[in-house]
Amino acid sequence: MNAPIPSRVLNQHLIDPEICIRCNTCEETCPIDAITHDANNYVVDPGICNHCMACVPPCPTGAIDNWLKVLSDQAYSMQDQFGWDVLPAAQDIPDGMAGGETPADPQAEEAVQADALDEISPLEGMPSTAAGSSIPPWSAAHPYVNLYTHKNPVTATVVGNYRVTGDDTESDIRHIVLDFGTTSFPVLEGQSIAIFPPGTDGAGRPHHARQYSIASPRDGERPRYNNLSLTVKRVTTDYDGKDAAGVCSNYLCDLKKNDTVKIIGPFGNTFLMPNQADANIIMICTGTGSAPMRAMTERCRRLLKEDAFKGRLMLFFGARTERELPYFGPLMNLPKDFIDINLALSREQGRPKRYVQDLIRERAADVLPLLESESTCIYVCGLKGMEDGVLQALEAVVSDAGRPWAELHAQLKSQGRLHFETY
Ligand SMILES: Cc1cc2nc3c(=O)[nH]c(=O)nc-3n(C[C@H](O)[C@H](O)[C@H](O)COP(=O)(O)OP(=O)(O)OC[C@H]3O[C@@H](n4cnc5c(N)ncnc54)[C@H](O)[C@@H]3O)c2cc1C
Ligand code: SF4
Ligand code: SF4
Repeated sequence: MNAPIPSRVLNQHLIDPEICIRCNTCEETCPIDAITHDANNYVVDPGICNHCMACVPPCPTGAIDNWLKVLSDQAYSMQDQFGWDVLPAAQDIPDGMAGGETPADPQAEEAVQADALDEISPLEGMPSTAAGSSIPPWSAAHPYVNLYTHKNPVTATVVGNYRVTGDDTESDIRHIVLDFGTTSFPVLEGQSIAIFPPGTDGAGRPHHARQYSIASPRDGERPRYNNLSLTVKRVTTDYDGKDAAGVCSNYLCDLKKNDTVKIIGPFGNTFLMPNQADANIIMICTGTGSAPMRAMTERCRRLLKEDAFKGRLMLFFGARTERELPYFGPLMNLPKDFIDINLALSREQGRPKRYVQDLIRERAADVLPLLESESTCIYVCGLKGMEDGVLQALEAVVSDAGRPWAELHAQLKSQGRLHFETY
């Protein structure tokens, strides 16, 4: 008969459901699919997670960095975690097993030591399966993150909310300006905030916060007024096209002037623009993915006025029609020698269907020298589905010129020059 396996102390990896904003970044990052989610929570499978830490730095809130000492036969199952609203309290670990003390069984001893090692292992050198960089460009300014959390959210007042897509189009995208009054809320271009929609979900729990990219530059939508702007799309269908009124996007799109909203953040420490004067920026986006691109473009436009911007801006912007393209009017008014605009329209009557990846290939002669310049950073933001197409187009631009893509891709990643933010 087999002897019972002695219980040992595990350092169980858990996600704090109170802080998590359900952005899916960790699930995408985990190289071995240890993370999954249901309608309620993101959870870590204790039977799969090997404590590699790859998911920890990309999490915008720190919710994923929770480690609880538990006895192996009392580890929390996925089912337990799906049901949580808060993290459980620490378990009682019997004397002699707590604090890293080892149980008598040699195998268990090894496991505890491995867990202890995991606890002190540095984050550098962790595996990265993502196609983009996990570090910002070298010259990016230092961001503030998590200044306001679930425990101390900040309230902002709506000072503007208007539609930036054609009135006759299906796609209702809004430019929403939020004022922070006297509360300090420092942000950088490329960061995001999260907003709590009021009310509760079907199970009676308060709705979780949704994340939105900031569409204004660091000194505000209106400089020195302590405000920022968002670009929000009203969600009326789910990803499969079935009717579904998005909770937070509809709340935001319906806000009136002087309404107040509950906010946490700022989030994001890698999708940041370079700060050196000669930096070039390639921006590739669809729909509300234009928000961070607007922030960066406006920052460069303000710097240009002070003669402090010497780089090149190249934009690839995809939409179904011109009228569904947010900020179309103001975008087309920007000087041609300031920004090289390439519009990929997929449903414009009388014109062939074009997607951003088609235009990147067509402009290969101009894209290639930019990609090869160490002063160039590339930002991709918008629908999740665009990542592969854009990567393939960049690869084609480089490979068709007889250059090794794998080498350049590795450089772009390690130098913090290729960034994805898709949702
Ligand atoms: C890093 C990051 C930045 C983001 N920036 C922006 C931004 O700048 N502007 C913006 O509008 N959104 C942005 N989002 C998406 C945003 O956080 C919400 O997911 C979106 O507004 C839908 O929330 P909801 O509460 O309205 O929908 P929910 O009530 O959460 O969902 C309703 C249904 O719609 C589906 N759904 C959710 N989002 C979409 C979508 N975008 N398109 C189609 N179906 C969807 C859901 O799967 C669900 O079935 C960002 C997300 C992330 C992770
Ligand atoms: S907030 Fe962190 S833990 Fe929650 S889904 Fe995003 S990355 Fe995962
Ligand atoms: S620590 Fe590693 S294995 Fe565990 S959930 Fe995070 S990325 Fe996945």
